[in-house]
Amino acid sequence: MITRPAVVVEGLVAVGTRSAGVRSDLCVRPIDRATEHGLDDTARIEVAAERLRHAERLLIMTGAGMSVDSGVPAYRAPGTTGWQNYGFLEAIGLKAEDLACPKAFEDDPATAWGFLEWKRRLMAANEPHAGYAALHALGRIARESFVQTANVDGYHLRAGWPAERLHEIHGSFWRLQCSGPCARRSWEDMRVPLSELDPKTMRLAEWPRCSECGRTARPHAILFADLDYVGNLPAEEARRRFHASGPDVAIIVGESGVIPTHTHDAATLRRSHGTFVIDLNPDPEARPARMADVHITLGAKEGLCRLLESVERLTR
Ligand SMILES: [Zn+2]
Repeated sequence: MITRPAVVVEGLVAVGTRSAGVRSDLCVRPIDRATEHGLDDTARIEVAAERLRHAERLLIMTGAGMSVDSGVPAYRAPGTTGWQNYGFLEAIGLKAEDLACPKAFEDDPATAWGFLEWKRRLMAANEPHAGYAALHALGRIARESFVQTANVDGYHLRAGWPAERLHEIHGSFWRLQCSGPCARRSWEDMRVPLSELDPKTMRLAEWPRCSECGRTARPHAILFADLDYVGNLPAEEARRRFHASGPDVAIIVGESGVIPTHTHDAATLRRSHGTFVIDLNPDPEARPARMADVHITLGAKEGLCRLLESVERLTR
């Protein structure tokens, strides 16, 4: 059994009621919510929905699991071929890390860009799933809200979330920067396709360049072994300001905890501002699930649609 840090026992009694709030300061003892209280996801959704519908400042944090339901396959998806499972890379003795790194864009831009082009085409061919609209609707219920995402697919923007309330903490594959870099600037490039992608070698015929110095452009995203990412200062500052304002509710979606930013931020806010943390993630062993006030063991699309339905039902 997992020993959890704290649990809102009183809050659980309030499930399904409109008047009783769920207070994170009423934590009493470490228990396993699922086994000792027999709470299923429906009950956990009710607890989370009660919090979300009263949220004043909602912090939304999304990770890789948010994208999976959009049909973008996992890198090593069984039964797929070529770059979908990186069989191509293995056949020529390369790993993803060998191509998604600054050195590759300098040494072999045709292959590095071929890999990036393949990813961009895949992202463009798929759509943000219904969970994005549900999550953004939850964000609009709160008086203020902010999205921080670890994903580079640009799906929050594509689903209509405003750029001024978003920090893509790892950057985006739809923005580019100089590989030098000759300046701390980035620019949007949404073109698909960029040029011909050779299906045998997976090399791209032409790729974008920096308009200032002519060097190869590279994604404005944090790559492997990357010291050249120029960052996004306005978005970083907007995120910092929102954290400092003391979000009363935070929701983490599709985050395994392998990259610790969201979990660290949520734990810090919980400690400093008493932020109530909701985690939506199928894996109850994941780090965000273990530190959250309420954990829902569903995938992003189903979980977010059910959360929004529950908030709307409670609000009627
Ligand atoms: Zn340049």
